[in-house]
Amino acid sequence: MNLDLRTMMVMISALSLLFSGLLALVGLHAGDIRGVRQWAIGSLCIGLGLAFSYTQLEPPGNPWALVLGASLALTGTGFQFNGIEVFKTGRCNRYIPWLLAGLAFYQNIWFTVLHPNIHARVIANSMLFFLINAASARALFIRIEQPLRTAYWFTGSSFAIVAVMFLIRAIVVYLLPADTYGLYSQIPLNPASFFVGGMSQMSIAFGFVLMLNYRLAADHQKLASTDALTGVMNRRSLEQEAARLLARCSRNGETLAVMMIDVDHFKSINDRYGHWVGDEVLKQLTALAEKSIRGGDYLARYGGEEFCILLPASAEKDAWLLADRLRQVFAGTVIECGGEVLRSTISIGIADSAHAGLAFTSLIVAADKAMYRAKQDGRNRVIMHSSHAYG
Ligand code: GH3
Ligand code: MG
Ligand code: MG
Repeated sequence: MNLDLRTMMVMISALSLLFSGLLALVGLHAGDIRGVRQWAIGSLCIGLGLAFSYTQLEPPGNPWALVLGASLALTGTGFQFNGIEVFKTGRCNRYIPWLLAGLAFYQNIWFTVLHPNIHARVIANSMLFFLINAASARALFIRIEQPLRTAYWFTGSSFAIVAVMFLIRAIVVYLLPADTYGLYSQIPLNPASFFVGGMSQMSIAFGFVLMLNYRLAADHQKLASTDALTGVMNRRSLEQEAARLLARCSRNGETLAVMMIDVDHFKSINDRYGHWVGDEVLKQLTALAEKSIRGGDYLARYGGEEFCILLPASAEKDAWLLADRLRQVFAGTVIECGGEVLRSTISIGIADSAHAGLAFTSLIVAADKAMYRAKQDGRNRVIMHSSHAYG
């Protein structure tokens, strides 16, 4: 392969410095998402490390520049790893970049100044690069949920390619006859590893931006679809989910049941104990409702102190059993908040698509009517829409 190492090294170094600035800018608007700063520092160290290693392209080279170059590049890779951990979990082991810096510094001094041995140095450095890049790849491949998985896997594959490249590099140098390797040696290994390494650094930087982009989109989506006080779905996402479920019902003839829950005399709870005690009542009700629904059911805050539960593959009677259990448990729950101790009750109206039809609005209207009937009948009760005639 007739690629000029000098040009490649300058390009990769300059690009890494550019990515560092780019990631720093991206980090300015990452909100409370952490890790981008470490990625920017990582790119900076890698760019500077390559710039220092440039002196090695022609013999005799400057051994101290090499020690510094390898140590900086490995520290940068350690920062990339830390950034991934912080991005994923919010935590990381801060010592990893410095541990790598120390190891790289020590082994490069050993094999360059104290006991010069280029082969041993290249193998030792390549193995460190292999290990830390493989660790980054592993961190990006395991326990990743959708919708972020594609971005993680893209970046993880880039790290895996760099790791494999360094492993191959170590093996090839190990197999070469003694004292035949140097960055200036005319062997395909050097341009090939620079090419793969440079391309991967580019796709890693792009991968980091992609991960951030996916994460911001997912956070934004979550914010737009959940209720801030209780953390359950809001009305907007309830309507989307209901449309999907009702389309499924019309395809396979399933019945969807809907439950409207309304806290009794909630206004007087607010008036008597204050709004924040009222908020606590809503949170307690949400927690109990979440516990009582099945895996495939959907709980949403419909508005104010009204909640809605969608029960796929259920009829009014199935919903009634669940609703009445929830009503009883809630009525028996003592709510303590800010020194106040109180109890509260709920009224529930139920409708299903077999009686009220396959339009969400008509289901909600039917469940609402049943709920108001429960209010009229004295509150703290569950009423099915089909069991009454409404004028
Ligand atoms: P009923 O038994 O007939 O349902 O009586 P109610 O007092 O519960 O009914 P009403 O609809 O008159 O009162 C609802 C109250 O809910 C009025 C409003 O101030 C309160 N509310 C709405 N959203 C919130 C909230 O997020 N937090 C608190 N604390 N109160 C809220
Ligand atoms: Mg109400
Ligand atoms: Mg109410």
